[in-house]
Amino acid sequence: MHSYEEKLARVYHGIILDLELEKIDPNAFNRKQNEAYVVQNSEYSLSKDEVIDYIAKKFGESLQQAQKIFDDLLNRGFLVTLYDKFVTKNTSIKFKDVIGYRTLHMDLLVRSAHIRTYYYYPEYVMSPRFFIYKFNVPSREDRIIIPRRDSSIADERNLYFALLKFFNGNERVVKIFIRILRQYFLSLGTKGLDKFQAYSLAKLIENSYKASVITAPTGSGKTEIFLIYALTEAIKTNILEGNDYKYVFVYPRKVLAVDQANRFIRILYATNYILMQEGYKKILSFGLRDGLTPRDSLEIKQKNIREFRGIKCPECGKPLIYRIQGKDARISCSNDSCRFNELNKFIIATKRAMGNTPPDFIVTNPWALETRFLDGSSDDINSKTLSRAKLIIVDETHEYTGISGGLIGALLSTIREHARTFNGIETKVILSSATMPGAKIFASKFLGVPEYQIIETDFESFRQKSGWIPLGERLMIVALFHMNPRYSWSTYAQLWAVMIAFLGFSYRIANKKFIPQAIIFINNIRELRKTFVGFQENISLGEPRDHIFGPSASPDSCTISSMDPYMYWHYIPEKKFHSEIIAKYKASGKLDDLKELAGKIYSKVEQEERLRVIESLKKPQEEKINVVFGTSSLELGVDYDNVSFILNIGIENPLILAQRLGRGGRSLRCLRTVLGIILTRNIPSEAFTLYDIDLYEKLNPCPDTSRLQPKPVATGNPQILKRALLTKTISTLAYHGKHTYSSRRAIKSKSQLKRFIKLILDNLK
Ligand SMILES: [Zn+2]
Repeated sequence: MHSYEEKLARVYHGIILDLELEKIDPNAFNRKQNEAYVVQNSEYSLSKDEVIDYIAKKFGESLQQAQKIFDDLLNRGFLVTLYDKFVTKNTSIKFKDVIGYRTLHMDLLVRSAHIRTYYYYPEYVMSPRFFIYKFNVPSREDRIIIPRRDSSIADERNLYFALLKFFNGNERVVKIFIRILRQYFLSLGTKGLDKFQAYSLAKLIENSYKASVITAPTGSGKTEIFLIYALTEAIKTNILEGNDYKYVFVYPRKVLAVDQANRFIRILYATNYILMQEGYKKILSFGLRDGLTPRDSLEIKQKNIREFRGIKCPECGKPLIYRIQGKDARISCSNDSCRFNELNKFIIATKRAMGNTPPDFIVTNPWALETRFLDGSSDDINSKTLSRAKLIIVDETHEYTGISGGLIGALLSTIREHARTFNGIETKVILSSATMPGAKIFASKFLGVPEYQIIETDFESFRQKSGWIPLGERLMIVALFHMNPRYSWSTYAQLWAVMIAFLGFSYRIANKKFIPQAIIFINNIRELRKTFVGFQENISLGEPRDHIFGPSASPDSCTISSMDPYMYWHYIPEKKFHSEIIAKYKASGKLDDLKELAGKIYSKVEQEERLRVIESLKKPQEEKINVVFGTSSLELGVDYDNVSFILNIGIENPLILAQRLGRGGRSLRCLRTVLGIILTRNIPSEAFTLYDIDLYEKLNPCPDTSRLQPKPVATGNPQILKRALLTKTISTLAYHGKHTYSSRRAIKSKSQLKRFIKLILDNLK
């Protein structure tokens, strides 16, 4: 059964594909699958009867129900109304003569194809083309599988017996584990796992292996798989068997690690709560260790750090904060009376505390992982801690190719070797990614583990083999725009941002349920800043005035219909038109509110601003931003529910493009619909894409990776082998308590350096 929200998404996708597509491109239905659609007609509309009839016939709804769906789409802002003109009389504005309706996504597609500064300017975009991809993704209704002994559902029984075997037949422990799962899912607002998650989890639990690869598209719930699996291992080894093993999770970026930390804390909170109730003395602890982890309580005091990285309380949703207790610091809920504060000791807050009691679950990044592995200092995570790694999970593995892949691969091998030599631990590694061509071959090279010791689970091949059709439907409209060489892409991006900011502004003052958000990806920080400043200057100069009043720019009336792709005035609610638009333009000649609605995020942006931007993407009602200018730091894994529009400057490696476009249209908040525009710059390599016959596959957000070669990884590179030898030697010294200059004092003199080099040489094996 589809929920009502799921139905709205399907209807919305249907209107785009079955009604609008042919109006925009009259040849749409004659084109081959890999041939792009062309934006030929930008002045189209749908009549209300046409849409309601379609909903009734195609989805088998009564006319009354079809009307309700239509109204819902309209009220939420997914359908927009086109009018012929507006007239003003003193402070009263009237929109006159409804022409018809469009979906918001296609309305923005045709307007994006005609963006320009002045009405009479030639087009900035040449030959606007687009593809549409539709596919099924797991939805909330799919997430219902929970391990049960006497279930009529095979997946549930399989999982139960896999767990029972894993916990050596101990039914009590399996029961406790199921309680933990239920509690965790409840806090996530779901009921259980979907078919792919259940299958992958059972596979990890049942098999012995050295490494495992999980590939599944973004939004398909990979994290749950390895997180729950790590929990089964940790309960077995650390709680039941009394070992002190470590579970290490490596994320390529801090933003992502912090985002995922929310889930770790959620599941460990549920786990510890239930373990405590069941009379267990030991709990599973957690530490987020990266460059922003405070050294000790003194540093928290001096720098006056309050919030714990923007992470929310799993119990009540309020921000978690640092609370100083003598020399120590605790992570507490900002709500004093919250139950969380009775059980908050499991989060280890500072580097020093992590040195004293190393956390069981460590979330970090590859660079912090290496520095910690080379260090022997007792007031931080060190070589000894990491040599007890039982499981290392590397998320977003596709990031580690070429030289950086070689370095990280070598580091992981050395950690595994240490664990084996010093503690007799066989460290398992799980690699996870949305897109990893030739996953097993890559994993084998990356980790130096033979292919037969690697198990692989892939979403797409599971889906095909099992015939499972997930209940969610996602629609991705991918447009490819080429810039007219007379204009710069930066100007285009500025004007596009103005349009989205204006849309966001309009929807906010209309109190629409849907708050549209967009991300503009610009790789180069200097260009990003320039474009951001240009966006603000455009607003200071009065943009988007002409798009509201027309080229004559008289605020008394507009005779250019909103069907004209140059115009934006139809987004504003009629009632607010005077107070929010005309009065402001008359007073200052501009619409300064729009400036506030944009934010930027890249490595050099202050921590506070970064948090604000991320927060706005998660909670657009509270932090008001509609357009985010970002570099690649926004690419990965994080869920932003309202992001539905993406502009990518330049054409990249298809896998990166898939990742970026995958940021949008991920939730039902935006009806799982995304419009992604790829704007090519005037450089020859990008101009060639005009003639590329494989474009359909290359821009496919869910590329068929079975056709692609595995990415190169430089694990055999002689320089990397030399470096790995050094890493191994220094980390062995650190393991035995020698000072390796990885923390505290740096090497200060030549003689110190000489002594250190001699120490390394004496211990080189
Ligand atoms: Zn709380």
